[in-house]
Amino acid sequence: MTEIIRNIRGMPDVLPEQTRYWRWLEQTAFSLLQSYGYEELRLPVLESTELFTRSIGSVTDIVEKEMYTFADRNGDSLSLRPEGTAGAVRCMIQSGLLHTPGAKVWYQGPMFRHERPQRGRLRQFNQIGVEAFGISEPTIDAELIIMSQRLWQQLGLAEQTVLKLNSLGNREERQQYRQLLQDWLQKHQQHLDEDSQRRLLSNPLRVLDSKNPALSDLLQEAPKLLQHLGPASRAHYDEVCELLTDNGIDFVQDDRLVRGLDYYSHTVFEWQTDALGAQGTLCAGGRYDDLVALHGAKPTPGIGFAMGEERLVELLQSQAHQAQQPLVYMVVQEPSLRQAAMQLLEHCRDRVPTAILLLDHLGGSLKAQMKRANRSQTSYAVIIGAEEYARGEVSVRLMQQQGPQLQLSAQELPDWLAGRNA
Ligand code: ATP
Ligand code: MG
Repeated sequence: MTEIIRNIRGMPDVLPEQTRYWRWLEQTAFSLLQSYGYEELRLPVLESTELFTRSIGSVTDIVEKEMYTFADRNGDSLSLRPEGTAGAVRCMIQSGLLHTPGAKVWYQGPMFRHERPQRGRLRQFNQIGVEAFGISEPTIDAELIIMSQRLWQQLGLAEQTVLKLNSLGNREERQQYRQLLQDWLQKHQQHLDEDSQRRLLSNPLRVLDSKNPALSDLLQEAPKLLQHLGPASRAHYDEVCELLTDNGIDFVQDDRLVRGLDYYSHTVFEWQTDALGAQGTLCAGGRYDDLVALHGAKPTPGIGFAMGEERLVELLQSQAHQAQQPLVYMVVQEPSLRQAAMQLLEHCRDRVPTAILLLDHLGGSLKAQMKRANRSQTSYAVIIGAEEYARGEVSVRLMQQQGPQLQLSAQELPDWLAGRNA
């Protein structure tokens, strides 16, 4: 027997039962982004490996162990993008779009990380990413966060999300703090796990990001970066906090929030939920004021975030949000009537263009067709019977509520449906 080929672990198909939530999420997000003045970029999924090692940092989970890296046929080292900011920055520099003051962009698409597949952690997953360039004012930090909060509201998820906020200061402040933290961690070295012991030397800030619950109590005692910021960085952070408060956004200051990528500075934030088990970060981002210069272009501040679509879709599904159900399932008594039925249904479409109207193309007994109508979860089954139709009438059966079967004139049907579809 020929073996059936399966998908690659951690790279799932998305089936119709889920794609409707994806479209809802994306349509809602894209129009919201448009309303805040963001424009779309479509970026390649493959980039040169160096783009990522330089941006994300070589001592990070992503670069150390998660990237899909391979040699192209001509020997160039390429990587499947593990995130979108590096490519967006490359594109903004290369295209000259960066020269537009206050350029704001978004992108959507698959990202690839070789992680251990589990709930909320895939090897191919999708992000909607948002980036704003050339604005150092704290108002943009706050606006990004307010915009994401508005998205949760529109999706009915606001009750499930918590905002965590921190500041990483500027490069000098981080350097000084790094030393302080390293000294402190060294004193507690015997309590650290293997990963953290290694990072203590190579990238001590990353130790704070450890997901190991056994280290939680200890790390809570570590020196806090926020207390070692200079006055300008502190003022920036305070202003972001004030703007959020003024706009009714609650947040939790989290000293251990350092993010898993090296390019961040100043404001960093995550939207988290406890409704999805261990992988609860829905959306994460922050400032990256040094990243553009790191790529050799004129220093330009930047800020952005990325949301994980799979996690958001899971949350939407678990909230039992009702996806749109068919309004009509049209059942036809005899094959010879199907042409007339089809025309009538097209007239109905003119009247209720966004409703789902289905025609039974498969035929067979009335019973078999009604079974399919029932399975479709339609509100109404419209039955086209030979005798009735000759009199210009159709029958309507209510499928989701009690009530007698109705007789309507075929001509009235489109208007009648418009009345029910409100
Ligand atoms: P974590 O600390 O959970 O590993 P991260 O810092 O690696 O997260 P980011 O690079 O900030 O994650 O990605 C932004 C968002 O993308 C995450 O908050 C999450 O929603 C989503 N995401 C990241 N990695 C995965 C993955 N392997 N599978 C599914 N979604 C992911
Ligand atoms: Mg990760």
